[in-house]
Amino acid sequence: MKIRKGMKFRLEPSNVQRERMSMFAGHNRAVWNKALEITKDRLDRKVPILWYHELNWNLTRLWKQSEEMAWLNDAPSQSLQQTLKHFDRAMRDCFDRNQPNKRMPRFKKKGRGDSFVFPQGFCVEGNRIKLPKLGWVRFRKSRELQGTMKSVTVSRNGKHWFVSILCEIEVPDPVHASLTAVGIDRGISIMAACSDERDYGNVRAFRKHQKRLAKAQRTLSRKVKFSNNWKKQKESIQTIHSKIANMRNDALHKASTEISKNHAMIFMEKLGVSRMSKSAKGTIDKPGKQVKAKSGLNRSILDTGWSMFAAMLEYKQAWNGGCVQYVPAAYTSQRCSACGYTAKTNRVSQSKFHCRHCGHAENADRNAARNILAAGHAVLACGVDAVATTVKQEPLAV
Ligand SMILES: [Zn+2]
Repeated sequence: MKIRKGMKFRLEPSNVQRERMSMFAGHNRAVWNKALEITKDRLDRKVPILWYHELNWNLTRLWKQSEEMAWLNDAPSQSLQQTLKHFDRAMRDCFDRNQPNKRMPRFKKKGRGDSFVFPQGFCVEGNRIKLPKLGWVRFRKSRELQGTMKSVTVSRNGKHWFVSILCEIEVPDPVHASLTAVGIDRGISIMAACSDERDYGNVRAFRKHQKRLAKAQRTLSRKVKFSNNWKKQKESIQTIHSKIANMRNDALHKASTEISKNHAMIFMEKLGVSRMSKSAKGTIDKPGKQVKAKSGLNRSILDTGWSMFAAMLEYKQAWNGGCVQYVPAAYTSQRCSACGYTAKTNRVSQSKFHCRHCGHAENADRNAARNILAAGHAVLACGVDAVATTVKQEPLAV
């Protein structure tokens, strides 16, 4: 198995190199913003947008030839092209229904996320790296590089510049240490309820910060816009935001690492996150019901970062030699995991499940997790049959 690993080091550029790097970052930012400007304009006018090849044509034939953007010729053209490729990717993601959390790309601002990429033309010698149009730049080599170098990203954080070297490393195929399977319900009150009776991440922990956030935002609204106090308040809001994001990321990482370690096979619901987290307000002709309750629920869903969680589980399983399988989501919250009786009334509340038929009572998310595990086994059984009857299908990796 080949894996790709990024290794980041701090650069120690000369003053001239530092200046050139700022300039390159600026040129790449300009190319991104220009591409976005064109795209937005085309979307407004409802004409098809331009993809990488057309944008690249614009770059070399129009922008670089024009008087007002001729300075683009100073920047390494491969990194400008790479920026357009990233832009292309961002637009494709933005229109991809399977990536519900992706948004329209934004204009880049100076000093925020300054970076540029070299797909080729670089080499490393000792603690120096040779970069196109920059020459040899020293870096703090804190560890040895492994494998084949694929690309290099130069970025700025605060006043320091860094280089991230993407290496492709050949590693033996991992074999998962465990043979068990687990069903996970990505719940509302707990982040992940598992069929092995473990719970991960309490969503309520976020509520406290959410209240603080709401309060801070109210305070902001009372301040004079762009005054010093307003700026200070704005900063503290930003701090709360990043605190919530960090908490969530930590919780997601902890949960996904442990689940991936314990189980070779993970079953999850195939759930349209975008559909569930979409505004509950509805339209003017068709106003939504229970708008307030649903928007609270939506917030919880976004809190838990489901698609991030799924992505983490997927790559951790790949690393550990396990896999993630998605199963259809129908009725998992209404079916009794003990007897199979399915009814809306089984779900007493958001968190309680009580079977009307056999009396089985359990946390609703746990009951759903058990159903997901059962559904997963059923899917696998079908899969195995399919392999037996059709030769085309790839054997399932369990
Ligand atoms: Zn039952």
